[in-house]
Amino acid sequence: MTTLHFSGGTIWRGAGAPTARSLLVQAGVIVAFDDEADATADAARETEHVESVDLEGGFLMPSFGDGHAHPLFGGLEAEGPAVRDCATVDEIVTAVAEFAAANPEVEWIIGASYDPSLVEEGLFDAHWLDAAVADRPVVLRAYDYHTVWVNSRALELAGIDAQTPEPELGQIMRRADGSPLGTLREWGAVDLVLDAASVRPAEERMRALRRAGEYYLERGVTWVQDAWVEPGDVDSYLDAAERGILPVRFNLALYADPRHFAAQLPVMRESRRRVDALGSPMLTANTVKFFADGVIESETGALLEPYCTGLHDHGERGRGMTVWEGDSLRDAVLAVDAAGFQVHIHAIGDAAVRQALDAVERAIDANGPRDRRPVIAHAQLVDEVDLGRFAGLGVVACMQPLWAQLDPLMTVLTVPRLGRERADRQYRLRTIDASGAVLSFGSDWPVSSGAPLDGLAVAVSRRTSAGDPEGGWTPEEILPVERALAAYSTAVAHQAFADEASTPWGRIEPGASADLVHLARDPRDVPAGELAGIAVLATYLAGTPHLAGSPRYRAAT
Ligand SMILES: [Zn+2]
Repeated sequence: MTTLHFSGGTIWRGAGAPTARSLLVQAGVIVAFDDEADATADAARETEHVESVDLEGGFLMPSFGDGHAHPLFGGLEAEGPAVRDCATVDEIVTAVAEFAAANPEVEWIIGASYDPSLVEEGLFDAHWLDAAVADRPVVLRAYDYHTVWVNSRALELAGIDAQTPEPELGQIMRRADGSPLGTLREWGAVDLVLDAASVRPAEERMRALRRAGEYYLERGVTWVQDAWVEPGDVDSYLDAAERGILPVRFNLALYADPRHFAAQLPVMRESRRRVDALGSPMLTANTVKFFADGVIESETGALLEPYCTGLHDHGERGRGMTVWEGDSLRDAVLAVDAAGFQVHIHAIGDAAVRQALDAVERAIDANGPRDRRPVIAHAQLVDEVDLGRFAGLGVVACMQPLWAQLDPLMTVLTVPRLGRERADRQYRLRTIDASGAVLSFGSDWPVSSGAPLDGLAVAVSRRTSAGDPEGGWTPEEILPVERALAAYSTAVAHQAFADEASTPWGRIEPGASADLVHLARDPRDVPAGELAGIAVLATYLAGTPHLAGSPRYRAAT
């Protein structure tokens, strides 16, 4: 039984709670703090080895959680052509050509994720990729993960040509003669090629999960909500959990598809049953994921009032895309809630947020009271009258603080589409937190950085990494640092039902799992501009340390 005695720094126990100066952990569980921890450690030293951990003037807190991310996607990015940092189309084409030459055995070249703003309106041409690879299909995901760019061979194998009708819930971008351009938007179109693609080998997926977990451990994260899991992905997670190679805790959100929802519910129950039967503390599958809409930048986010711009003449003008028509979202949420699942609804535009809140309200009315902790993810634009409903309905607002800044994505793609007035009503972090709702944070990695400190820096400043604008964008929504820390730790634990785990985690109190992060500096004492640069010195999962600079996660060796 390993005993750890932490001292020499600030031990943060949650927003508003008194800090501690020492902490004792035995067999992965927190047993005491302050005087009692010191006395117990002294007594234990008589009979066993007690490891003293010097916090070196730093900051120990409950480890971070990521309330909304796509770790399998993130981990898989490293398996394909590396296009994430490419600054031009030419660089992407070169990276794909190099990958193809180095990997002649790969049948389907699948890469991620390119910057869709490199080309006007995000309209990427298949012919550009044909110049890199013509004989094998190539599929690249844009970093919004709602769009793909493919070559001509992929279009051919997917059977997409000038005669292909527009799919439900998707757009095939076309040339003037009606032939497909090479850019496909949203599931209905994206799935046409992904369904034709060969499945990624199991070993590749195991590597991806391990890589994703290690990415998180290095950044202080020990729990991740995978916000989009298909049945084949459940198998991968189960396999990894069984082999003991999941480096962090994961909860799976099983993807609900309006096109086949009726057939999905029994499969979801079975997935949850299999995960429960395994009984791993690293894996749960308690959640069902719905997309209520798309994203603002593609004008697929669902708005109450029309967009200020229009995308050519491809149909998706006006108010954006509603994924679940009529009462179908309400009915599906009702069914999933009745089956005891937590719901997790992607809702970006104000119309989608309202539809999601209405669906949750209906489920509560129909199925009666219980501790359900429904989640609305993103909540980028919320109508004034809906702001108070999060608290009223017990809905967790899982928001992405990193997005609350005037970066090029915002100024070039978002603000012109929403117009100034609506643009300034985005990401109401402070208002929602102050309303009494649980505000949790997530990164949406690999859509954007999975490092909580990157998000926290924006949450407490609403400035870009260059410091713009002075004083912050919509500064009334700047979050106090303690509230931001809570949103990325204890609030995510609430979202995760961590208090109901066999050993609860997400808080520093006796009986809780020692899931902790050791930061080099106290985030409450540093200027916002330096927050992202604070070193993560160690991440503890059930008392096992992952130390900065160590070659790999120690528990896995
Ligand atoms: Zn997402």
